[in-house]
Amino acid sequence: MEIPATLLDFYDQFPNEAACEDYLRRVRWPRGFVCPRCQGREASFVSSRRLWQCGRCRHQVSLTAGTVFHGTRVALRKWFLAIFFLARHKQGISALQLQRDLGLGSYGTAWTMLHKLRAALGRRPSQLLKGRVEADETFVGGSRSGGKRGRGAPNKTMVAVLVEQREHSAGAAFLAVVPDGSFDSLGPTVRGAIEGANTTVVTDGHAGYFPLGDQGVDHEAHVQGAPERAGEILPWVHVIISNLKAWLLGTFRGVSPKHLPRYLLEFTYRLNRRGIADRLFFYLLRRAVQGDPLPYHRLTAEAVG
Ligand SMILES: [Zn+2]
Repeated sequence: MEIPATLLDFYDQFPNEAACEDYLRRVRWPRGFVCPRCQGREASFVSSRRLWQCGRCRHQVSLTAGTVFHGTRVALRKWFLAIFFLARHKQGISALQLQRDLGLGSYGTAWTMLHKLRAALGRRPSQLLKGRVEADETFVGGSRSGGKRGRGAPNKTMVAVLVEQREHSAGAAFLAVVPDGSFDSLGPTVRGAIEGANTTVVTDGHAGYFPLGDQGVDHEAHVQGAPERAGEILPWVHVIISNLKAWLLGTFRGVSPKHLPRYLLEFTYRLNRRGIADRLFFYLLRRAVQGDPLPYHRLTAEAVG
């Protein structure tokens, strides 16, 4: 599949809706049409209804059914462009910027498009981390707007961050919202993110990690003296935490706790595919095709977790 590298490539490759539909069809049915009802391989296009009709059982399928593009009133070409920006901009794109760049009628449309695409990134279990894995937790968001001081800032959300520690670089990473810093919260998150064997989890002296060893996880806890030691024990986790915070603040000027999990999906997705950034357009589009359409009401009602 051809993958646009520049905006000019994009315009050449996708001059109109028909070109986008053709590309989408090849992503969705890479080895040709497959009828979802009878597995028939022959189909004809019913142009009046814009549907594909199975030659064997006559079942009609829309190209976008079951994808994030299902039922959309936004042109496919604009969706493709949104995916192109997500793929090509290292910092992603804000809803406001997307609204302007695509000339969308409302901010809400741009916001919903981006969140539907983000949600599609998390539907398959990502690779498990192995080797030496740094683990730490951080607070994201803040009490800048109306948070009560003292017991619990309502806008602050705890995020667990795990990353493979390679000799001169960070490997794959995993980030997830956790309710708090207790072992009940951190234990399952850490264990769910790592390969059981051949993995050593490296943490600071936070007690919320201590029972890991009792549960058969090879755990190396460093009770640090001076704060500057933290950077030596957990170098990559700290780089990732500061990149995450800079990204959330710089691109989005902060995000609400309710929607943070999907921002983490986007951040982690891009981070773990930094070596194949030139092919991200295709991979993101494929995720969008495979992902279920996420209705707006569910998008806004989803709680943290
Ligand atoms: Zn059929």
